[in-house]
Amino acid sequence: MKEIKCDFLIIGTGIVGLSLAKNLTETYPNKNVCIIEKEQNVAFHASGRNSGVLHAGFYYYPDSLKAKFTKQGNDELTDYCITRGLRINKCGKVVVAKSEEELESLFELKKRGENNGVEIHLITEKELEEIEPNAKTFKYALWSPKTSTVNPSEILLSLLKELKDREVKIFFNTPYKSVIKEDNKIITEDKIFLADKIINAAGLYADKIAKDFGFAQNYVLIPFKGIYLEYKGSKLNIRRNIYPVPNLKNPFLGVHFTIKVDETIKIGPTATPCLWRENYKGLSRFNVIELMEILKWDIKLFLKNENFRKTAFDEVKKYLKSYMLAEASKLVKVFDSDGFTHWGSPGIRAQLIDIRNLQLVHDFVVEGDEKSIHILNAISPAFTASFPFTRFVIQEYIMKNCGESKDGEI
Ligand SMILES: Cc1cc2nc3c(=O)[nH]c(=O)nc-3n(C[C@H](O)[C@H](O)[C@H](O)COP(=O)(O)OP(=O)(O)OC[C@H]3O[C@@H](n4cnc5c(N)ncnc54)[C@H](O)[C@@H]3O)c2cc1C
Repeated sequence: MKEIKCDFLIIGTGIVGLSLAKNLTETYPNKNVCIIEKEQNVAFHASGRNSGVLHAGFYYYPDSLKAKFTKQGNDELTDYCITRGLRINKCGKVVVAKSEEELESLFELKKRGENNGVEIHLITEKELEEIEPNAKTFKYALWSPKTSTVNPSEILLSLLKELKDREVKIFFNTPYKSVIKEDNKIITEDKIFLADKIINAAGLYADKIAKDFGFAQNYVLIPFKGIYLEYKGSKLNIRRNIYPVPNLKNPFLGVHFTIKVDETIKIGPTATPCLWRENYKGLSRFNVIELMEILKWDIKLFLKNENFRKTAFDEVKKYLKSYMLAEASKLVKVFDSDGFTHWGSPGIRAQLIDIRNLQLVHDFVVEGDEKSIHILNAISPAFTASFPFTRFVIQEYIMKNCGESKDGEI
């Protein structure tokens, strides 16, 4: 088998893998970076199948990695789109409440936003009417002018081109198969990669690969599918993203209206537990071992985690188009359910469960040593946060841990 040597080997060309490569080439211009990807191109999984929202950063617990990097990530990706001529819709977003009980969470989000240094305004029903006349709320809403939407695939393709120009070697159709830990060698079908540092950014398979290296011992991955309905009618008038107040015990934001870069409207995503990791449609990519493993953990969670049980019941109903439409209709004054005629492509979240307490993990998780680094639980808003988050990974897990200076000399 052909042996390829490199300084850094990244697994996965999602937004995390590509941003890591971008930041590595900037930090270490003299080192060579290779990426292996099991698909034939970028954008096949979560990074190409998400809502395309650049989040502002007000949802997240203080001190979390999400709180630390989302605002900065939004600023950097906004600049990236503008300087490269990629489409961005700076439509902003409102979060609306349905009842008195939801106001408490709304105020909590405002507080979190302030703690995270994010521009966020508490507005009255009347003020909401001026910002987004069709949105409906109970007494108050939040207005986030910094939330915007992009086309994620355009960003991935732009990064891909840039990395090729910087001579990063990208091997598509090259799935990771196994590792020889002592030599830091990765085995694929027809090649062996020998790397100083391996960075695992494999999304839905990141936990499995991490386990081969002895990491991610406290976690299992439960995939959650997000489905979308696209609006093809002409009667619905919405100009800004409209979100409900989320259940703060979950990392999901609830079914919402997203205004895409071409100003068309979609609703979603749901957060339905799925049965195997790439369970996008029908039986495609069916994997019986994954099915057994996921069912085992779903049942445990269902029995022992009250919040998971409630979420599972609520979310399964959203497979019904009528239920999903009914949920969305609660956010607006005038709705046009007949116009939602098309299902968009679903995305699947690589959600970790902490097996020590059977809770869904809310923050990004990074584990590693001097030879390998594993990016786990890169769930939303990892797209938004990707540029500064991966810079942090390089600083904390490559430069600091390995005593390297900025120009790459050890
Ligand atoms: C429905 C949904 C909506 C979302 N909405 C938003 C949003 O609006 N804003 C936001 O900021 N974030 C959003 N997110 C989150 C965001 O999409 C993810 O956080 C982000 O895309 C994760 O990127 P990644 O690179 O870790 O994973 P991925 O994009 O999944 O990339 C991982 C890559 O690794 C490859 N790979 C896997 N296994 C192997 C292997 N064995 N060998 C080689 N390659 C392998 C895969 O093929 C894939 O290309 C959403 C996610 C979902 C699912």
